Formats: sequence, C-alpha cells, structure tokens
Amino acid sequence: MKLPSRLVDGYRAFVAHRLPLERSRYEKLAETGQKPEVMVICCCDSRVSPEVIFDAHPGELFVVRNVANLVPPHSPTGFTHGVSAALEFAVQLLEVGHIVVMGHSHCGGVRAYVEHRGRPDPGDFIDNWMSLIAPAAKSVGDGADTNRADYLRRLEQASAVATLTNLMSFPWVRNRVEQGELQLIAAYFDVGSGALMVYDPALAAFAAVGAEELPRASAPASAPPAR
Ligand SMILES: [Zn+2]
Repeated sequence: MKLPSRLVDGYRAFVAHRLPLERSRYEKLAETGQKPEVMVICCCDSRVSPEVIFDAHPGELFVVRNVANLVPPHSPTGFTHGVSAALEFAVQLLEVGHIVVMGHSHCGGVRAYVEHRGRPDPGDFIDNWMSLIAPAAKSVGDGADTNRADYLRRLEQASAVATLTNLMSFPWVRNRVEQGELQLIAAYFDVGSGALMVYDPALAAFAAVGAEELPRASAPASAPPAR
C-alpha cells in the first residue's frame, strides 16, 4: 500500500517549509488540546478548502465537509449521524463562537439535485442526501424565469441560508444563539473569481467581503504578454 506520489511530495514540502514555522503551535495544541473559535461547514469539493480560503493555522478551524455543505435537521434517532455528531462536539464541548456554512459556485451536489429531480431511479446516496435542499429549492422557485447558471447560484445561496434554519433545530444550538454565545453565518465562495460573500439577514442578500483586495481576473490565454 503506497500513498500517491503527489501526497508524498506534498508532505515532504510540508515538513520542509510549513512544519518548521508551525512546530511550536503543533506542540502547544498537542499539550493543551484544540480550542477553535470557528466551525466551518463546507462542501467536499476539492476547490473549496476553508483552511486555504481563510488562511488558517492548525487549531483555528473545526471543519466538517460533506456533499453541498448541508446539515440535516435535529433528529435524535438511533441512526448514525456524522454531521450532527460533529456539530454536538463543536457546540457542546469546544463551545465554538461561530458556525459558518459556506456554500460555493458550481456545486456538483446542487447540480445533481436539479438534474436528478423527479428521476425514477435515484442513486444509493447522493439523491437521498440532496433531498435536504428541497425547502431551499421551494423558496427559489423552479428557475423557469432565469438562466440555468443564475438559478443554480440562487439555489446554492438559498441552501446555505436554509441550513442555518436546520442548525437552529438543534436545541443546544438554539440555546447558545439565544444566549448570544454563538453566531450562525451563511457564506458563499465563488470558485472562478475567489470572491467571498456573506449573507446579511437585514438585506436578505449576500454582500462581498474584502472585494477591494481581489486580484483582477486572469488574462485570456490568447492575450499578448504584459509588457
Ligand atoms: Zn459543492
């Protein structure tokens, strides 16, 4: 059994460059345990890594990733609930102060939900999991009045906001929010531009964060080299 060479090379680069800078932080975290302030719930998508996007150090983010950054509503059955277990750990034991649900553009999970809607032969897992966004889909309509890309973006954003409602169905989340000890935030990352947006409940809209520092889009490949 061998690691792919890409991972071995990446680990060597980590040991050579990053570990020396972070060594004391790792040692302290091993000794005292983690105490992250922020939980991030984001998609498995390989383009949307919260540690990269938020330039995070070890111990700073408690991250849960799943297809389309969803949280099922509170349902204390005997089943195994991975997301709910992580949420319980973050809120009850680590006592994080913020939970950020980060949706993103070009989400394959959201696209699968739209493309598979009404399909007679649902797959084993994705369609069932993605049925969690049905309430968000209802809130944005059927998309007949807009182009497909805009519709998917609206659904990706509405789903992140609707997930905050599911989070509030957990009694210990609601309690800490109402006590002012926990803040729930919906965010949205645009893969193509790197733009980050945060939902403003007062405006019922997403607003850009740090947009003034975004680099301009790359020049097309056919453009002449800059002089
Ligand atoms: Zn996704």
